Amino acid sequence: MQPLTLPIPTSAPALTEEGFTGPTVSGDLPGPRSRALLERQAQRESNARTYPRHLPIAVADARGSLVRDVDGNVFIDFLAGAGVLSLGHNHPELVRVAARQLETFTHGLDLPTPAKDDFVTAQLSMLPAALRDRMKIHFCGPTGANAVEAAIKLCKTATGRGDVVSFAGGFHGSTTAAMAVTGLVEQKAPVTNGMPGVHFFPYSSCTHCPLGLSPESSGTACATYLENALTDPLGGIPRPAAVIMEMIQGEGGVIPATREFARRVRALTRELGIPLIVDEVQTGCGRTGTWFAFEQYDIEPDVIVASKALSGIGTPVAVILYDKALDRWAPGAHIGTFRGNQVAFATGAAAVDIVRRDRVLENVRARGEQVAALLKPLESLEWVCEVRGRGLMWGIELVDPATGRPDGARAEAVQARALRGGVIVETGGRDGCVVRLLPPLNVTADIVAAACRVLVDAVTAAGPTGETA
Ligand code: PMP
Repeated sequence: MQPLTLPIPTSAPALTEEGFTGPTVSGDLPGPRSRALLERQAQRESNARTYPRHLPIAVADARGSLVRDVDGNVFIDFLAGAGVLSLGHNHPELVRVAARQLETFTHGLDLPTPAKDDFVTAQLSMLPAALRDRMKIHFCGPTGANAVEAAIKLCKTATGRGDVVSFAGGFHGSTTAAMAVTGLVEQKAPVTNGMPGVHFFPYSSCTHCPLGLSPESSGTACATYLENALTDPLGGIPRPAAVIMEMIQGEGGVIPATREFARRVRALTRELGIPLIVDEVQTGCGRTGTWFAFEQYDIEPDVIVASKALSGIGTPVAVILYDKALDRWAPGAHIGTFRGNQVAFATGAAAVDIVRRDRVLENVRARGEQVAALLKPLESLEWVCEVRGRGLMWGIELVDPATGRPDGARAEAVQARALRGGVIVETGGRDGCVVRLLPPLNVTADIVAAACRVLVDAVTAAGPTGETA
């Protein structure tokens, strides 16, 4: 294939949030330059590529909460690298830290370095006091899925057991063990001989109770069901090596566990000596208004999985933090070449400092309330089942008003309209019926207001007949 001949403009003024009055999208979408790159991508890259199918733009540059495509359109980015860019794109301080580290030392396997030591200190300092001295950290291959693999491996090794309990609607990654504990049937169906011994239980998804009960009278029957299954001598499930759960199911459609459910799962696993793995890959690092989401449930997990936003700027890193009592695996039990990304360590430690200094968690909570105030009224539309979330993790669930069933096509139409209006959002949940918001955690009130205006228009325009954008 010939090199790309379309000139990419380099003379555009620097992108900045200063004086930002709203997104600017003009002409066709994708514009001609984006279209050219998308076509080249389609010819050369895998059929398994995802985001460009629904967000058909090619990105030129970005800053803070803004992204500019190669045609000069400026978008508000409420996807933020799938929740990775917690301090926005190219945070200037993190860029400086990264540049300095690049000139010092970049790749260190799992040898100790000052950058790594600072990172570990920063991460441990963000744990609740009661956990700080009890936890050890392991550096995994640099993806959430690899850290999930490590967590499962650790628990199997430490307990000598083989089964794992997970929850319907959960998402934990696309590699073998992570996919095995993920609910997404479509992804695993074509891949035979996956990890056996995974048992799925209902999650406290009260809007659509998997047990057909109503939240007022259910008495958290989903937890009762799990309790019975794991204690019944005729229940069919050997005592598992681990229970893995998200505190808020992200890809599953932004579904927070109820407090009672999470607390009962914790109490049960503790009573039975089953390590509880909390997957905070998406909810972690401040996304829900506390550093980790489990803090809001007053529970203490045995293993915490973290990745995405750990470095604050998208340099890959993934860890598990776990109770020292589980530290019974052998040297080399979970190795991987890319476990020593010094740039990620340096920016990750700096990101923690910035989160503290700039009171970013307070911003998450305040902006979350702002999102709720602006978007909750959408629930009066008959095609909006629910607007739900915590902190800066929100979902708008779309349904077919005639049947009340999840309406992925309508959510896709909202996503397309939002993009046209200059806001990048993702979809998730069952049949992709939930429009998901994952803005940078330091997003400003003005940008939230501008984005929500576009989203309200996009959702309002998506009904009642569900015409597409
Ligand atoms: N766990 C959760 C909760 C996630 O949301 C994701 C990614 N969306 C993963 C694990 C997998 O992370 P990665 O894509 O980095 O492998």
